[in-house]
Amino acid sequence: MGKYEAIIGLEVHAQLLTKSKMFCACSTEFGGAPNTQVCPVCLGLPGALPVVNEKAVEYAVRMGLATNSKIAKNSVFARKNYFYPDCPKNYQISQYDTPLCSDGALYVGGRRIGIARIHLEEDAGKLIHCEDDNCSLVDMNRCGVPLVEVVSEPDIRTPEEASEYLQKLRSILRYLEICDGNMEEGSLRCDVNVSVRQEGSEWFGTRTEIKNLNSFKAVEQALHYEIGRQERILLEGGRVEHETLLWDSETGEARIMRSKEEAHDYRYFPEPDLLVLEVPGALMKRAKSAIPELPDAKEDRFVRDYNLPRYDAQVLTGSREIAGYFEAVEKALGDPKQASNWIMGEVLRELNERKIDISKFSVSAEDLADLIALQKSGKINMPTAKEIFREMVGTGGRAEKIIASKGLEQISNEKEIEQIVLKVLDAYPDEVSSYHAGKVKLLAFFIGQVMRETRGRTDPQKTASILKAVLEERR
Ligand code: ADP
Ligand code: MG
Ligand code: ZN
Repeated sequence: MGKYEAIIGLEVHAQLLTKSKMFCACSTEFGGAPNTQVCPVCLGLPGALPVVNEKAVEYAVRMGLATNSKIAKNSVFARKNYFYPDCPKNYQISQYDTPLCSDGALYVGGRRIGIARIHLEEDAGKLIHCEDDNCSLVDMNRCGVPLVEVVSEPDIRTPEEASEYLQKLRSILRYLEICDGNMEEGSLRCDVNVSVRQEGSEWFGTRTEIKNLNSFKAVEQALHYEIGRQERILLEGGRVEHETLLWDSETGEARIMRSKEEAHDYRYFPEPDLLVLEVPGALMKRAKSAIPELPDAKEDRFVRDYNLPRYDAQVLTGSREIAGYFEAVEKALGDPKQASNWIMGEVLRELNERKIDISKFSVSAEDLADLIALQKSGKINMPTAKEIFREMVGTGGRAEKIIASKGLEQISNEKEIEQIVLKVLDAYPDEVSSYHAGKVKLLAFFIGQVMRETRGRTDPQKTASILKAVLEERR
């Protein structure tokens, strides 16, 4: 029996950062009191007519252009009919057989992942289930918030690649400033489709769809779980059912939600209240000129111009703001690799721990460059530099000030180091004898004592060579 291979395709919904909704003027602001951002249009009251939000169209076009998709001059809104309490019209306005964008792609780890389509649609409301499970409330504020749905081709092969694809997609959305990419708050949502087949087979197996994945980790875990489940079914000679599953991150299992609905269940038909969506030339132009240098191009440039390892370039360009911060540090410092090391290590760690954005970071690029320069020149050693960095993060102070006020300057004067070395050796006569008897490993112990004596301010290399010299003299 040959090995199995997974086939994966993602459907990603991204909330667009427009001020107003897709077909009315209601605010899209997150967190308002329930049902305060509604009107006859987004509540689906009889006779109310939708009007297309031009900004939403422009944002979707940006995404299309950024993924090299074809932009349809004319596309069609369609009604997707279904009944659910969070959808007061009993249909969602979406796009069906004529989407705004199609046939694009993006790249992860050099592999091309096709993007079948990108279309516009409106979001549904939110159900709030009461604690005692006796009732459900509905908040219609989210009804009609504009979304783009990005549907990949089934080109993804592993759970890790699926997560990377989603990260790349999120990164592009954020570069374009059309979605904040916040998965916890639901502004970026992902459903995965997965099937399993014998490696080398030309046919796809039956797929399942997993919903409710609100982190990159959940995407990977759910896929591993589901691929394992499907493989076991096939190994036992069973058949995978075409179903929709719901991921439960608490238990790490997927529950069957319903047997998969088919397109005809939705009775799609062209939205009679809207005209064909025409993309005007002026809008197309605006969208084009709003596209910045994108992650892949930036990554290549960082490798080329700064001679950075590919991995560094990839991490730094994951966010446009981090990339900008790096370039500012590099410009002030003139040492790309050192700038990269500090940002990928210390800075990103602080941002993660504090769960903040680089725009809210207290250490400016210039101040970080100064600190790195002080360490490079030998005025302070690396452990001290890191200590000062943490102080800078906490207080927003500048490195030189902190060094002066705390007396943290590195001792590099050899006479001074020698004094301390002599003091240490005098304090440990037994260890000195052992060293002379051949226990040379004790050198590290002596270095440690000198460091302790000076609170880590001595230059370790100089300390080692002076220690060796003095120990030789005393032999
Ligand atoms: P539907 O409209 O039923 O959701 P689509 O054709 O839009 O179906 O496909 C939805 C997603 O499922 C796409 O991302 C596609 O790449 C993926 N997909 C389609 N067939 C398979 C398959 N056999 N295995 C895994 N994924 C698949
Ligand atoms: Mg679909
Ligand atoms: Zn409204």
